[in-house]
Amino acid sequence: MGLGRRTDMASRPWRLSAKLLILSSVVTVIGFSAICASVMFDMRRGEEELARQTLENLASGIDADIGRNVELYDLSLRAVASNMVMPEINQVTKPIRQLILFDHAATAKHFGGIQVFNAEGRLSIDASTLDPVPEVRGDEEYFKVHRDRPDAGLFISRPMLHHGAYAIVLSRRITGDDGRFLGVVAGSIRFSYFHDLFGRLHLGPNDTITVLRRDGTVIMRTPFDLDLIGKNLGHFPGVQRALSEPSGSYSGIATAAHPSRLYIWRDGTRPLVVLVGKPWDDILKLWRTEATRIGAIMLALIAFVLAVTLFLAREIGRRATAEDKLEELATTDALTGLKNRRKFDTAIDAEWRRAVRQQTPLALLMIDADHFKSYNDSFGHQAGDEVLVGIAICISDSVRRAGDCVARYGGEEFAVLLPGLSSEEALRVAETIRLKVLKWAGEAAVTTVSIGVASLMPDTATDWGQLVNGADKALYAAKAAGRNCCVLGSTSRLSLVA
Ligand code: GH3
Ligand code: MG
Ligand code: MG
Repeated sequence: MGLGRRTDMASRPWRLSAKLLILSSVVTVIGFSAICASVMFDMRRGEEELARQTLENLASGIDADIGRNVELYDLSLRAVASNMVMPEINQVTKPIRQLILFDHAATAKHFGGIQVFNAEGRLSIDASTLDPVPEVRGDEEYFKVHRDRPDAGLFISRPMLHHGAYAIVLSRRITGDDGRFLGVVAGSIRFSYFHDLFGRLHLGPNDTITVLRRDGTVIMRTPFDLDLIGKNLGHFPGVQRALSEPSGSYSGIATAAHPSRLYIWRDGTRPLVVLVGKPWDDILKLWRTEATRIGAIMLALIAFVLAVTLFLAREIGRRATAEDKLEELATTDALTGLKNRRKFDTAIDAEWRRAVRQQTPLALLMIDADHFKSYNDSFGHQAGDEVLVGIAICISDSVRRAGDCVARYGGEEFAVLLPGLSSEEALRVAETIRLKVLKWAGEAAVTTVSIGVASLMPDTATDWGQLVNGADKALYAAKAAGRNCCVLGSTSRLSLVA
């Protein structure tokens, strides 16, 4: 176990650092990507917020202008409606009546002249002339609404051709003191008012402003679209919300065949609701360009960092393998492929300390080829080498536990470290090795080995030199006993674990 673990420990820092490098690069890349994504998300939110504010201001401004004009005009209509029921009004001359009924506010540029229709729908008084041309409006929707519904209040008509121009007609009921329907007072706001109002604004090419009646009918729209004017859009979810919530926003398509827009409305409690829309494509255009640019740079950087990391990690891996090979070479005996003496010294040192810690015995076999000098002399050095390799194989075959360490101790001498084995167990292993060599050598039995066995329960007061000494002495004893045998070390300490 000792040798295997040492090799692992030597190589682990390299492998660990390759993994660490990859991990830290990946974490860095993820971190930077997260920061980048967060910044881009903030930028997007900023663009959205800016568009929202701009649209809100626009909606508020338009709404205020339209609302104020409708209110002023309505005030004039109310004044006419209430003055018309004064009995004195029919007793004054026409010019005086004009002066009493109509103020100058209602004669502004885009406003049509106020007209009064009697209960039959006939034009009775016209603000613009003392002698109006006869007109009958009894069939108009606004007339019928007021005739049938005393509580209609200010009624705003659908867009219509009125006195030769597109306009919306604003009207109020004239109700007698007894609640009787006396007629309708009506006036108009021409489309030129809206054209003039919207013409003063700086709008994007795809921005829209839609003025809706409270039932969802489109009164006016810019860019001007005759197909939409007068249509009821009340069934579209965005329009439904704009009509039901005082202020708010809606993201989506307002009508089919239109791009997805952000719609904003403000103060939607007035008779006319203003819906301002901007396509998301326009809102996010700058952001998209910027995000694509930053994203592309970020991707290139990530690719670069990952490529460099992989390259470095592979280099580190290669170096680690090379180090492992070097370490292997430096600790292996070239002839037999066993661990060399240097490695054995390190291994016995480590195993000794482990045995001290864990209070387990440590056994050592010292194996020496018998009469090897004469073998060399008889069969040559090369044949001697082959025998050494054969003995090494016999030993390795007999020692299979992961923690065991087989080493070429020097010349024709081998050492086997057996952690955790008592003297008797170690002696059994030694015997197995001896018999295996004997069997391998064949009937002539030219090659035999003598084995010295020692096992010790280590403590801090002793060192592993004593174990080596014990095994050495046992080996000498085996030689003295006639060779081709195993001898167990017999000192009092050494026999403790027997
Ligand atoms: P003993 O039974 O007492 O151990 O006798 P021995 O001849 O084996 O012992 P000795 O120490 O006198 O001789 C060891 C010989 O082992 C000397 C040397 O020629 C031989 N030897 C040492 N290393 C190698 C080697 O790498 N290859 C070969 N072929 N022979 C080696
Ligand atoms: Mg020897
Ligand atoms: Mg020998």
